Amino acid sequence: MTSENQELKKAGLKVTLPRVKILQILESAGERHMSADDVYRTLLDQGEDVGLATVYRVLTQFETAGLVQRHHFEAGTAVFELAKGDHHDHMICLESGRVIEFVDPIIEKRQHEIAEEHGYEIEDHSLILYVRPKQ
Ligand SMILES: [Zn+2]
Repeated sequence: MTSENQELKKAGLKVTLPRVKILQILESAGERHMSADDVYRTLLDQGEDVGLATVYRVLTQFETAGLVQRHHFEAGTAVFELAKGDHHDHMICLESGRVIEFVDPIIEKRQHEIAEEHGYEIEDHSLILYVRPKQ
């Protein structure tokens, strides 16, 4: 059994060809953050006959099952990345669209302190910096 099959079963999902193919694409992608359209195009390049609606449906199922995370880096476009349990924040270059991942222990710590000052504890957070190359 392939590792994709095992992962799908572990997530409580039935093993279907579109699910296996899409999981493979997310795992082998050079770009870790892919839109449904990116995934769809890659499937087409591989000669797979999977419609865009199926890609959306499978990605949403993956999100519900905790296999992927959905981010909204740009208005209207969602990108997906495999949920590997490692928390990180994102920086988006407004010129090239490049996505840079980073972790800063001081930012992480401050966020907890700020939530606590307001009487809360953090369940989850998402921090996106929109940047431009320095002149
Ligand atoms: Zn990321």
